[in-house]
Amino acid sequence: MNGLPPAVGIDLGTTFSVVAKLDDSGRPVTLVNAEGDRITPSVALFEGGQAVVGKEALKAISTDANSVALCAKRDMGHKVFHQALENKQYPPEVIEAFILNKLRQDSVAQIGPFSKVVITVPAYFDEVRRKATQDAGYMAGFEVLDIINEPTAAALSFGFTAGLLGKDTQAENLVVYDLGGGTFDVTVMRICGNSFTTLSTDGDVQLGGYDWDHRLLDHVAELFVQDFYLDPREDICARGKLWRECEDAKRTLSARMKATITCEFKGFTKRVEVTRDEFAAMTQDLLDRTRFTTEQTVRAAGLEWSQVDRVLLVGGSSRMPMVKDMLRQVTGREADASSSADEAVALGAAIHAGNLLSLSAGNAPSFAIRNVNSHSLGVIGTDPATRLPRVGVLIPRNSKLPKAVRRTFRTQKTNQKSILVQIVEGESSSPENCTFIGSCRIPQLPPMLPAGTEIQVVFRYEPDGRLYVNVKIPSINAAITEEFNRENNLPKTLLDGWRKYISGADPTDYQ
Ligand code: AMP
Repeated sequence: MNGLPPAVGIDLGTTFSVVAKLDDSGRPVTLVNAEGDRITPSVALFEGGQAVVGKEALKAISTDANSVALCAKRDMGHKVFHQALENKQYPPEVIEAFILNKLRQDSVAQIGPFSKVVITVPAYFDEVRRKATQDAGYMAGFEVLDIINEPTAAALSFGFTAGLLGKDTQAENLVVYDLGGGTFDVTVMRICGNSFTTLSTDGDVQLGGYDWDHRLLDHVAELFVQDFYLDPREDICARGKLWRECEDAKRTLSARMKATITCEFKGFTKRVEVTRDEFAAMTQDLLDRTRFTTEQTVRAAGLEWSQVDRVLLVGGSSRMPMVKDMLRQVTGREADASSSADEAVALGAAIHAGNLLSLSAGNAPSFAIRNVNSHSLGVIGTDPATRLPRVGVLIPRNSKLPKAVRRTFRTQKTNQKSILVQIVEGESSSPENCTFIGSCRIPQLPPMLPAGTEIQVVFRYEPDGRLYVNVKIPSINAAITEEFNRENNLPKTLLDGWRKYISGADPTDYQ
């Protein structure tokens, strides 16, 4: 594209990933992987410390489940993946890096060497998970140009397909309902000509098609137990095999009114027929959670349903008829399933990458994106009345980004050596119900500061939802840019080591 590097976007999904790029005419297209598929299962099979990623890894779930990492995205933000693989504990972002590395290698084989990418994240991802995603990209040998919220990327793709980009069109309020394999996001956006503004966002990082699969799995397993007094869920490989059967049956139920699931374990076989209505009944509460969040997000945007022009369906799980039925009931109209539920997010990420590359080459932007923070930012303090720890909100959720706030702290004694600021994200005033982002110890305060010295801390959310902290001591005119201590993210030295190991790239090996 005009002498610029290829504009590549990656949808790093919980269950499937997709890569897209802009073609020579600036149109986003999906790339196929080495197996010839446009969608790669986000599954890694570990063998001798290396990972086989994709279709083959997924197949191994029935035979080598102990070495297979499934849904690593759900564990992002945690120190280690919930299951040891080949008796080794991996941080989830390292597993994600192996997946991204496979996507990178397959793409390089098609479009030649490149390193700059945009990677998508659920809008509801918190700061720690956003950083972990960027780190996964780095370890896979990429230079991550930006992370973009999945619903925003889907809206960009919709804007492109609808011919809105580059046109002075009427404002439109759009609800993006994005139900993927492992996460649910709902975002209200206003598209006006070339500007894509998020008004509100909400979601659940532990709710997706995988939970629907498990309702079927539990249903079949319990019937199996009734008949044979044996539980296939107790054997990790039998469980994996049954899960694949159930996921398949779930897809069948989107097209047909009934499906049959076969469960084989220890020489016994049971066939269970499930109707679409039975499936809807056993998953009603999951669907209700998405309905509740969707209604709440529209209210948070200050809109009535009558002011919403379109509901865009994104994510493979939005293909379930129950989703369309529920949205029809709530909104009084048909949801828009015109975008490719699987590919729209990656296509939008490629459009965003193209815009960023063009901007960095000195061109005018083709469109502007405005984002909001999906979680309130707070610091832990002490409630003067109860003396109990309490969260003081600094930046409420759904604030327009970038956003900075300054908070003043005071030293408590003369010659105090450091100050500790504990940062959280969440909507509760109790720290234990919030996500701990990190502690920012402002070390080595200059000696002999009197008690009560003012320390100003500026917390800044960037447009990508990442947090930066700056510290100033006005009385002595000192400024410190603080890299705060992140408990659940990997330190730079480990990131460099994994980058070399996984992708072969040196820390600054950018093309
Ligand atoms: P995504 O992360 O957007 O690729 O969505 C993947 C999820 O969509 C998985 O849980 C799939 O089982 C689910 N999915 C894909 N196609 C269908 C379908 N036709 N009916 C129901 N679920 C589907």
